[in-house]
Amino acid sequence: SKAPSLTLNNGVEMPQLGFGVWQVPDDEAEKAVGTAIQAGYRSIDTAAIYENETGTGKAIAASGVARDELFVTTKLWNSEQGFDSTLRAFDDSLAKLGLDYVDLYLIHWPLPSKDAYVDTYRAFEKIYADGRARAIGVSNFLPEHLERLIGETSVVPAVNQIELHPQLQQEASRAFHAQHGIATEAWSPLGQGKGLLEVPTVVAVARKHGKTPAQAVLRWHLQTGNVVIPKSVTPSRIEENLDVFDFELDADDLAAFAALDEGKRLGPDPATFDFGA
Ligand code: NAD
Repeated sequence: SKAPSLTLNNGVEMPQLGFGVWQVPDDEAEKAVGTAIQAGYRSIDTAAIYENETGTGKAIAASGVARDELFVTTKLWNSEQGFDSTLRAFDDSLAKLGLDYVDLYLIHWPLPSKDAYVDTYRAFEKIYADGRARAIGVSNFLPEHLERLIGETSVVPAVNQIELHPQLQQEASRAFHAQHGIATEAWSPLGQGKGLLEVPTVVAVARKHGKTPAQAVLRWHLQTGNVVIPKSVTPSRIEENLDVFDFELDADDLAAFAALDEGKRLGPDPATFDFGA
């Protein structure tokens, strides 16, 4: 792997930079994941709702890379929360991926209005105990949801995957995670490639290091301690996003990035989002 690893709270190693496949149709995902593994990515982030676990699995099988050198994450969709439905949904994801275990299984959203994430997580604990997920965790959980989960279950989530980029730096969540040994994984790390990559500060820091804005942003994540999973279907960008281990942001750069936080969400608010519930 070209990316260094972080050690999760159960001792499992997770590459700090992986490849995300949200909004990539199944056949295109097969191609993109193949390109990514070829380029040196060893971690892939998919989800049942992305409807590309099949293509992702095909690319993994065709890659020629040993299963134990890859780190595969998938997520439980909202409609399947609950103990029994989670066990069924997990079987379905494994079958689509063509795998007998995943490296990380995440509850996609907390759905506080459905009030089922504790029962759902108990099914995750069974999956973990059975060795079918090497680590279990959550996504889009606010500190209050994590607090309750930790209080009512026995396995502290290894990861919380949340929206996080320089314009939404998530100080409170990151502090809570650090306090509880939970790794922070950043989704939409490039701000979905929209305005963030044109922000003058980002452009200037990138230019100073002879790198691209996307690379400067990814470097900020890595030095902040986040796991990142940038997405692209363009081979040159897939390579570019992994080529971030030959330079370092300095204290001035980090201070400039710190000033970009606007608490600006691109995605839904986890406190109220209940799509598919
Ligand atoms: P991202 O921040 O990774 O941005 C991706 C977009 O940025 C691309 O579609 C492209 O338009 C642009 N881009 C990529 N590389 C570039 C480069 N080098 N130069 C210029 N532009 C570039 O956004 P994302 O796809 O939303 O997030 C990444 C991954 O996070 C997803 O694929 C998915 O795996 C995960 N995710 C999870 C959740 C969740 O609820 N858990 C939600 C959203 C995304």
